[in-house]
Amino acid sequence: QHSIEFYSDFVAPYPYPNAINVAGRVQGMEYPQIVFCDVTSRGRPLFRVTDHEFGHSWFPMVVGSDERRWGWMDEGLNTFLNQYSLLDYYGRGQVPPEKVMAGLSQFTTKQMGGALGTQPIMTHADRIRDDALGFLAYAKPGYGLMLLREYVMDPDQFDAAFRAYFDRWAYKHPKPADFFRTMEDVSGENLDWFWRSWFYETDTMDQAVGSVATGDTTRVTVAQNGELMLPVTARLTYEDGSTEQRRVPPEAFYTQDTNTLRVTDGPLQKVVLDPDQILPDMDRSNNTWTPGNGANSSEMDESSDSDQ
Ligand SMILES: [Zn+2]
Repeated sequence: QHSIEFYSDFVAPYPYPNAINVAGRVQGMEYPQIVFCDVTSRGRPLFRVTDHEFGHSWFPMVVGSDERRWGWMDEGLNTFLNQYSLLDYYGRGQVPPEKVMAGLSQFTTKQMGGALGTQPIMTHADRIRDDALGFLAYAKPGYGLMLLREYVMDPDQFDAAFRAYFDRWAYKHPKPADFFRTMEDVSGENLDWFWRSWFYETDTMDQAVGSVATGDTTRVTVAQNGELMLPVTARLTYEDGSTEQRRVPPEAFYTQDTNTLRVTDGPLQKVVLDPDQILPDMDRSNNTWTPGNGANSSEMDESSDSDQ
């Protein structure tokens, strides 16, 4: 009941008069109005499988994507939705999505750097290696859409576009470009760089504090060492302990791998990138700078400052 109500609210009203869950011998399978779950399933796993299978009522039962080619279009979108339903049910709206993303980012980053990460999400389902289907059709697109909603876009903007995708493609057969295009033209955001890196390629991300030049103006250079260039969030801690967050948008990295922040409000005692650790950063060891750690520090040199 929670699943039906939650998704009716989050996406669009449930389109059928009945919702039946049958305890059977398969782990879980979805059909219009009826789903099957493992008879031995109890507690949270039972919630999760029921929630997942009913989630398919929206994708692909109503929005009829082609799962034989693009499994992520129903499994990935559904996995994304399941995270919010789970948060709503068990977290009672008190747990922020960032908390879940921190865990998902660790898992996803590890897989992206390993054997499962060698194929792109867009690989047709029958060519995805058997052990990678769960990652490429469910986990990576699910977490990727959370990244878009919570970090790259904002939730209201994302939700409006996501609902428009549902409305436009209900009872039709969308292809990946239809999803990408709808998310862009309803939100007004250019997201081609994200679709390319996250769905079409196997790009990874490594943000780093490149250098910090101290002086009247402190110049913090942040670097993108990977091909996937998500926006940068830098938390600056001043000497008096106060903090400030700065964000560098993706556009800043279209033509260069680094960007320099100018800080004029006093000396810094710390710089941390991705402070909530929600991004798929392959190397977190280069995300923090303190005055003592030397390696990345340098005296300010006006002549070498070529940014902006
Ligand atoms: Zn499924």
